[in-house]
Amino acid sequence: MRKRLVAGNWKMHGGIEQNRDLLSKIVAGTMEIDKATCAVCVPYPYLSQVHSFLKDTHISWGAQNISQYDKGAYTGEVSAMMLNDFSCRYVIVGHSERRTLYGEDNCTVARKFKAALDAGLVPILCVGETLDQREAGLMEQVVSEQLDAVIELVGVEVLADSVLAYEPIWAIGTGKTATPQQAQDAHIFIRKRIASQNPTIAAELQILYGGSVKANNAVELFAMSDIDGGLIGGAALLADDFVSICMAANN
Ligand code: PEP
Repeated sequence: MRKRLVAGNWKMHGGIEQNRDLLSKIVAGTMEIDKATCAVCVPYPYLSQVHSFLKDTHISWGAQNISQYDKGAYTGEVSAMMLNDFSCRYVIVGHSERRTLYGEDNCTVARKFKAALDAGLVPILCVGETLDQREAGLMEQVVSEQLDAVIELVGVEVLADSVLAYEPIWAIGTGKTATPQQAQDAHIFIRKRIASQNPTIAAELQILYGGSVKANNAVELFAMSDIDGGLIGGAALLADDFVSICMAANN
């Protein structure tokens, strides 16, 4: 059976004091959780803080992006190996904000995915369509192209060491959530596409839903059989909400 994962994406939010308060409430509030994994993906400057704060706790941590390169003259970039110095478990790759605001195409995202795996990190690969693409009936095509770019580069087998996140762009940070059935349908599509190449990996792969998951909709989203948890943006900054979402994943 697939274990659920709830990963918070703090985006460009935080501060040393604020993080301490948020992290201590998350740790205390999720103490009883034993059937789901909880994680926070924080801005780079706070990796040292989360490493020290969370190292003896049940909460995992990671980053929100990495370079596709190992090292070199890439000013402002951070390599996957560097994240190992902070014992990160996860790194988000291909978040829609990286794709749309920073021009990351499928090929770049695939190389970042590979860099994460090569460094022993678990990439959380985000895929998803815009509203225009959904309305034009292109969801399956867009998601397939995003997935195929990764599979062509690294092979389907290594998906066993990764997590996918279906994040319809029209639902991210907008307060609009996909209905549980819309999300489930997309997750089934993704799982079937991977199953056509490797049914065992498809059956074991964690596929998270992301897009305005909140304390008041997490239970119904996580009740869908192919939704294995969530990638949480806004609600990950509110301790009580994030804890409630983690609790929903634990039930
Ligand atoms: C995200 O950033 O991945 C996300 C899903 O954000 P939100 O929960 O705020 O929609």
